[in-house]
Amino acid sequence: MEKKKASCPVCGSNSLMMKYEASYVYSYAIDSDAPGTKNVDEFLPYMYDEREQKDMRQYIECSKCGTQFPCYFHEWNPNMDASSIAEVLNQNHTEKSL
Ligand SMILES: [Zn+2]
Repeated sequence: MEKKKASCPVCGSNSLMMKYEASYVYSYAIDSDAPGTKNVDEFLPYMYDEREQKDMRQYIECSKCGTQFPCYFHEWNPNMDASSIAEVLNQNHTEKSL
């Protein structure tokens, strides 16, 4: 059984991508060897001492017309399916046309 795919309310395309933009500051304590207490012989960026999230933005973008629909999905539970995506698209579209 094929599930119904959500489509862009602006152009009708169902080529949609969810994008997650985030910026982080990674900190490495300066010790006697390579920067970061977890790095010894070489500097490995993922071996950080502290990570601070500065900003995040989540949205669904239509690959065809480029319209962006802000969304926030923290978790995906079994009750959510393509209709949850459709809800985001329609909600944001309604707000836009007011
Ligand atoms: Zn579109």
